Amino acid sequence: MKSQFFHKHPKTLLNKGTGFLAGYSHSLNPYAGCSFGCSYCYVRQMPVSLFRGEEWGTWVDIKRGAADLLRKELARAKQKGKVTIFMSSSTDPYQPIEYQEGVTRSLLEVMVEDPPDFLLVQTRSPLVQRDIDLFLPFKDRVRVSMTIETDREEIRKQFTPGAPPIPGRLKALQHLADAGVPTQAAIAPVLPSSKAFPAKLAGVVRRVCVDDYFMGDGSGGKRTRNLGVDSLYERLGLEEWYHPAAWRIVYDRLKEVFSDDQVYVSQEGFVP
Ligand code: SF4
Repeated sequence: MKSQFFHKHPKTLLNKGTGFLAGYSHSLNPYAGCSFGCSYCYVRQMPVSLFRGEEWGTWVDIKRGAADLLRKELARAKQKGKVTIFMSSSTDPYQPIEYQEGVTRSLLEVMVEDPPDFLLVQTRSPLVQRDIDLFLPFKDRVRVSMTIETDREEIRKQFTPGAPPIPGRLKALQHLADAGVPTQAAIAPVLPSSKAFPAKLAGVVRRVCVDDYFMGDGSGGKRTRNLGVDSLYERLGLEEWYHPAAWRIVYDRLKEVFSDDQVYVSQEGFVP
């Protein structure tokens, strides 16, 4: 899927953390739109996508002047209290356009100068490792959460053909951890995976979060149902994985490899 790119000058950048992100004071999106275009992306059902009237994944707004805006908004927010930032909730901060535009990197530079109390970086792109130098000054006040929904590439290709392959994400997690950056793997949403998945994760990460459509799409699974993701499971003959209890399959397997304090479920895995 090809994306079109637009340059925008936003008036605000930091949004209040609400709903699933209630544990955060703010969310931060360097872009609007996302060229990864995942089939199950719940943002497809949100105003940012619905009002656009164009297919999710085909457009990306590049936020111009984002660093200057963040510098001002961050200083103001810090005067009011604790600032905890989730980057990003409705785009991927390391989607391919970031290679050229560097909006996310420019925001990190601002946050290194004037650090928030906590920053969670949520991505599914190995490009995140480019910014290790900017994560290190945060010490334990940053966590890079890498989405790894499955270890089965053929499944990843069915659900998110535009997203980066899984092996590259695992390698990126390894590099981040080797450099001393706090990380986690987010199995979110749970996709059909192999029994060997937990062991593969255990080699690169010490913290895992499991989430699914029913807990994590912000609507008890309604948004996902509206997207018709269930038909993909039917076509693949994998209906048993589209179920409110399916996450337990992966959770129980993880518990055989990870200790209790290393495995988190849904929202608790993403809080600061
Ligand atoms: S990477 Fe995230 S924001 Fe982008 S399409 Fe996929 S789920 Fe949506």
